[in-house]
Amino acid sequence: MDTEFFLAWLTGAAELVRRHRDHLTELDAAIGDADHGTNLDRGFTEVLQALDDWPPTSPAQVLLSAGTTLIRRVGGASGPLYGSAFRQMGKALETPVTPAGFATAFEAGVRAVERLGKAVPGDKTMVDALVPASRALAQAVQEGVEAREAFERAARAAEEGAKATIPLRARKGRASYLGERSVGHEDPGAASSALIMAALAAVS
Ligand code: ADP
Ligand code: MG
Repeated sequence: MDTEFFLAWLTGAAELVRRHRDHLTELDAAIGDADHGTNLDRGFTEVLQALDDWPPTSPAQVLLSAGTTLIRRVGGASGPLYGSAFRQMGKALETPVTPAGFATAFEAGVRAVERLGKAVPGDKTMVDALVPASRALAQAVQEGVEAREAFERAARAAEEGAKATIPLRARKGRASYLGERSVGHEDPGAASSALIMAALAAVS
């Protein structure tokens, strides 16, 4: 996995976020403040712009640049959370990037989200998609399956994790203000995490 691979991942993620922008915003309208799709779409557009303006020369640089842009430019909870995830992943990534190295770095990124947001699985946040994705990835790598299959399994786990937020009551973030009324809606951040993982599976 080289610099091009990571650029393709983020480009694919930006495209998926753009395509699903209104859906993400609708999810956030139900249990938040209706800005998640527009927030992320703007953020990923700026991520691609910065990567174009200052071309990265390593996979780690791609992730560090993306993370910094998301932290600086995306308002709301999700910008700093996704930004920290990409930055931590970039810091933890060793070159040359192997599937096992990717999985380890990804786990470090997810831990950064958990540390910063203090959410645990079941709180109805992006953590509910990211933690299962990270576990599936680690498991697949341990089994020695091909990268493509490993990323597909991670994407499926993220998607299932996102759908599994529907019956949950939110305990973190803006949605938690709704209490019981947050039940019955998919968490927007979990849904966008599933898209970011789908982009990974698509590029591999
Ligand atoms: P805001 O809630 O500030 O408007 P966004 O709408 O962009 O920010 O993002 C909302 C998403 O952020 C939620 O759906 C949830 O997945 C995620 N989120 C919010 N707070 C936390 C937290 N403390 N830990 C993890 N994820 C969180
Ligand atoms: Mg919001």
